[in-house]
Amino acid sequence: MTDNFWQTLSLEEMTRTQWESLCDSCGRCCLHKIEDEDTNEIYFTDVACRYLDEETCQCPHYEMRQSWVPDCLTIYPDWGDKFNWLPSTCAYRLLYEGKSLPDWHPLISGDKNSVHLAGISVRGRTFRDDKIAQEEIYQHVITWVE
Ligand code: SF4
Ligand code: SF4
Repeated sequence: MTDNFWQTLSLEEMTRTQWESLCDSCGRCCLHKIEDEDTNEIYFTDVACRYLDEETCQCPHYEMRQSWVPDCLTIYPDWGDKFNWLPSTCAYRLLYEGKSLPDWHPLISGDKNSVHLAGISVRGRTFRDDKIAQEEIYQHVITWVE
């Protein structure tokens, strides 16, 4: 893998391996979100997909995830404005916005655990969506993602 490829290649130019390595496994994109229809503003909740591994914050069904959750996101380099659906700490959104990766990102720190140590991941902070009644979701809006 090219050293610091994220500084020299566009999202479109990256190999699949490089692209996948941008994900820091924070688990934030697996939180349920609520969109204000009038303002298009996105609000995150602390309710996570039932399949998210609460310890690793990774998806145990990643390759086949749409078979388990049909509306689970697939991120594409040409997503454009849709990068706003991702948390502001997400490497895909940061690079799309022309920003740098933070020090806690595993590609910078060399340590996959740094995303948890920095308090960025959702580890220990979520409820599973199969344990929450749908009408309760509005009580779970959080501000620690943004
Ligand atoms: S928000 Fe971004 S960095 Fe975090 S798990 Fe999702 S894709 Fe990976
Ligand atoms: S299926 Fe996997 S990737 Fe998709 S929301 Fe659930 S845990 Fe996250």
